[in-house]
Amino acid sequence: MRTWQLNAELGDACGLFVFFDVDFEARGLYTVSSSNMPNVAVIPKPNAPVEVREVPEPDLEPDSALLEVDLSEVCGTDVYLQQGRLEGVPYPLVPGHVSVGRLQKIRGELFDVNGKRFSEGDRITFLDVHRTCNACWYCLVAKAGTRCPNRRVYGITYGLDDGLCGGWSTHIYMKPGTRCIRLDAVPETFMAGGCALPTSLHAAERGDIKIGDTVLVLGSGPVGINAVVMALMRGALRVLCIGAPHARLDAASNAGAADTLNIETHSEADRLAWVLENTNGRGADVTIEATGVPDAVVQAMRFTRDAGTVVVVGQYTDHGSTSFNPHLDLNKKHLDVRGCWGSEFSHFYRSAQIVAERPDVWERMELSSYGLNEANEALRAVAEGRVLKALIKP
Ligand SMILES: [Zn+2]
Ligand SMILES: [Zn+2]
Repeated sequence: MRTWQLNAELGDACGLFVFFDVDFEARGLYTVSSSNMPNVAVIPKPNAPVEVREVPEPDLEPDSALLEVDLSEVCGTDVYLQQGRLEGVPYPLVPGHVSVGRLQKIRGELFDVNGKRFSEGDRITFLDVHRTCNACWYCLVAKAGTRCPNRRVYGITYGLDDGLCGGWSTHIYMKPGTRCIRLDAVPETFMAGGCALPTSLHAAERGDIKIGDTVLVLGSGPVGINAVVMALMRGALRVLCIGAPHARLDAASNAGAADTLNIETHSEADRLAWVLENTNGRGADVTIEATGVPDAVVQAMRFTRDAGTVVVVGQYTDHGSTSFNPHLDLNKKHLDVRGCWGSEFSHFYRSAQIVAERPDVWERMELSSYGLNEANEALRAVAEGRVLKALIKP
């Protein structure tokens, strides 16, 4: 593993990561590629260690492509995928849902959303969600594309048997209909936002943040930190963040949080008092829950002012239930509580535009890079919160 700070050193920091994990070699998990066949890091089944395998290069269907991967990411979802905590996952699985690379081979024609044709060699990213149908009741009547039952997700609900459909790989198969985006941002900078950026952009929109609002973000992982940035971009005057550990709260401050509070050293009563002190005794106008802890959803409701808004974006996996008082915590407060599921193309596209135009915040984020054969170490580091953002560099 190598950690580096982006900024001026970017040029030196890239391309230096050739580490051989002795344990993996001894256990026969590391494959030295003797050919040009793609190498992938696979979760064979829930709770099994990641293995590196060599797989055949896919045959390209018309209007598809092969992407040579520069970077993919390791996020909290990947930890849960390894632990078997998501439903409907077809193992063996190659994780990695947000990735950057170059189009190595194109069969037929691929166009971006502006109608411009892609060429071999172009650097792109792509929306991990594939096959949103624009034909079902959810797509057409509810206009809720993230609930389309036909959607499949690279690195999550596409398994190895579906083709090279995950980013922890030297190559990814861009199936026909994959939404590719030309990447103008520096790959490392874009990946510093990773999947957390479109997720938090969506959450900020769901929160309907108004100019001058005080926004509270619960959680200081990648989604929480990106939510600080998105809330400010939406017009929030002040963003408060409650999370842990210190290093992540520092990252939240660097991202623009006006003040932070460490959850490890403050009780729920302390936290409520702190929020009230910072909001003239009323509570936050909008609270974004990005923790993954069910009780945090109730706290989000309690920390929000009457007639305010709560967005729940941290409950992507089932961590069980919680209880609240419907009279005191919800109805009497005249509260608006909204779930926020997944991202659509618009969130992802605008994320890529934002990082390209205003890269500063993401350039400052600390990244940790791992080779394919270090994927288990990457998962441990993310699970234990030892790194802010882990990337896979195949
Ligand atoms: Zn649909
Ligand atoms: Zn993710």
